Amino acid sequence: MIFPTDRDPMGMAIRDYFRHGHADRLRIFSSMFDEDEMPVSHLFRTPAEMNSLERTALALSSGKVLDVGAGSGCHALPLQTAGASVTAIDVSPLSVEIMRERGVRDVRLADFFTDDFGTGYDTILMLMNGIGICGALIELPSFFRRLDLLLAPEGCALVDSCDLAYVYEDDEGNTDFSDVEDYYGEVDYQMQYGAVKGLVFNWLYVDFDTLSSAASDCGFCAELLRRGDAFDFLVRLSRA
Ligand code: SAH
Repeated sequence: MIFPTDRDPMGMAIRDYFRHGHADRLRIFSSMFDEDEMPVSHLFRTPAEMNSLERTALALSSGKVLDVGAGSGCHALPLQTAGASVTAIDVSPLSVEIMRERGVRDVRLADFFTDDFGTGYDTILMLMNGIGICGALIELPSFFRRLDLLLAPEGCALVDSCDLAYVYEDDEGNTDFSDVEDYYGEVDYQMQYGAVKGLVFNWLYVDFDTLSSAASDCGFCAELLRRGDAFDFLVRLSRA
């Protein structure tokens, strides 16, 4: 679903930061965590400021690249400069507008799950907890069906995620999921910028074993490429 322009807080923050060099607070609410803030400058990070997972993903990207949920274009732009053919998609109209202004040549206002933005991609990038857009475990089969439709025969998706089990760990290192109704990595979020509240959305954090078994159920293979230092990890998904 494409965000309505008047309910696009992250896009507004991206637009203000790009046009004026600063932005207000981008506030994040969720029923699982305390209120938080996303530093808007982080959405404009350069490759030198990226973590090792992202830098690995950029280094492994080749051929025809699809950047899913591309935000400000922070991954699309350096790949394009390095000579890759990049298509960037996002459901945020303001982010799409700013990516165009920043020089991303092929930007589409499109939903990964429902819209048409071509096929035959060698690399599909989904970064910054990129698998999150699936929202819930139950959506993983349709996610893999989309990958199958979009990927070139030898293509792969490079996605990062984070295992939230640490949130449920006590001081002795025991995890207790007894309060969790569904899967422990399914989180609801809402963002706010100034007075503008976005729609509530679901974001999926999936542990590697769960992702790997969903992948093999769907004819894909999940390869753990690298672990980060915050329970995060980078995975390559390719057809089995
Ligand atoms: N990849 C960027 C932005 C991450 S924030 C970065 O690393 O900085 C997640 C982005 O995904 C947001 O810009 C949001 O608008 C976009 N998004 C969420 N659901 C989407 C979907 N179904 N299809 C395409 N983009 C989506």
